[in-house]
Amino acid sequence: MGRSFQKPRGTQDILPSEQKYWLFVEDTFREMMLSAGFGKISTPTFEDTNLFARSVGEATDIVGKEMYTFKDKGGNSITLRPEGTAGVVRAYIEHGMHKEPQPVKLFYFGPMFRYDRPQAGRWREFYQAGVELFGELDPTTDAQMIAVMMKFYEKLGLKDLKVRVNSIGDTRSRNKMNKALIDFLSAHRRRLCNDCKNRLSKNPLRALDCKERGCQAILDEAGSMLLDNLTPDSRNYFTKVLEYLDDMGINYELSPRLVRGLDYYTHTVFEVVSGNESNALGGGGRYDGLVKTLGGPDVPAVGFALGVERVIDLMKKQGVGIPEPARSDIFVVQLGDEAKKKAIKVIAQVQDAGFRVAHALGRESIKGQLRVADRLGTKIAIIIGEREVHDGGVIIRDLKDGTQESVLDRNLLKAIQRKLKENK
Ligand code: AMP
Repeated sequence: MGRSFQKPRGTQDILPSEQKYWLFVEDTFREMMLSAGFGKISTPTFEDTNLFARSVGEATDIVGKEMYTFKDKGGNSITLRPEGTAGVVRAYIEHGMHKEPQPVKLFYFGPMFRYDRPQAGRWREFYQAGVELFGELDPTTDAQMIAVMMKFYEKLGLKDLKVRVNSIGDTRSRNKMNKALIDFLSAHRRRLCNDCKNRLSKNPLRALDCKERGCQAILDEAGSMLLDNLTPDSRNYFTKVLEYLDDMGINYELSPRLVRGLDYYTHTVFEVVSGNESNALGGGGRYDGLVKTLGGPDVPAVGFALGVERVIDLMKKQGVGIPEPARSDIFVVQLGDEAKKKAIKVIAQVQDAGFRVAHALGRESIKGQLRVADRLGTKIAIIIGEREVHDGGVIIRDLKDGTQESVLDRNLLKAIQRKLKENK
């Protein structure tokens, strides 16, 4: 035997028994977003490395430490997407969507890649469901985004979630925040980790996102350094967002240190958590400067993304019931060469009539084939032997109670219909 392989660290195989969760989450997401007027967009899983450097930001952990970046055979620097927004914004600009009537509302579902330290709820390949809305700068839009996200969790059957919100304001607010942070952090420079020492000059806001305990303790003292430095306009905007959240009865908590791990945010940022878990289930915010930064016109935007693995983990923890995915209705069993030929025709006929059909034509014994049917949970079997070929009929067997009857080929579809009805 040759050497065997294992999946790469931080990745997973999603086996058929797990797929009911995945199908449920993706279907629920798609149905909800389509009915709310969002259009689905799919973008490549890899992009020009500069796209992420320019949008997510050079000083972030994602760009600085976590990207899967490589040179392709043409010498271009390529990166497996670590998040979905940058690619969607690139596509929005590239396809001139800013010329369409705004808002443009998009959603996506797909794998993201981050070279992170694998642990509970942290994968190197993980799926995100995400939403982006372009062309509206209004506090109702931010509040609506949060409401849409919470509604989705509710549709999945998840309970006891809350959303943390904060504002990092407009550019002027952020300049003030950065100044105040530089003053504050410089006074504690010696106690900061090396990354934060660097951030101090490059991008002080990033220090708020540092995972080092020492830095966290210092920043706890920084308290409401962000909210205190909002310009009156930005403060006014944020107050309105909170008012709308109140009006909609959304369970939120003000989180004055929340900045999120990406540089492109402006004004409202938010993330959703369950109970006292530290891993966020999802998050998002407004990113008014990003379309312009990436070479497009000055178009405001807001969006969110949520991690599908974490959502599914929580569904399991909370014991959320999932509808079983559709199974095959009928299993076709055959015995002998002639019977196999007839089975192929019967399978096609029954499939064309709209039934879901399974089979194991490569297996010879009836017992072996019925075992496969049992594993699939199929309700009825069509059994074809030499005798049925000769008589121009088939046997229909009820796999629950073992009763069976012979029917003529011409009555087959009616008989199946009757049998499945009885079996409901
Ligand atoms: P972010 O793009 O960092 O704002 O992340 C949005 C959401 O994606 C998070 O709240 C998580 O649910 C999920 N997520 C981010 N990184 C990972 C990861 N390494 N493994 C699993 N899920 C992740």
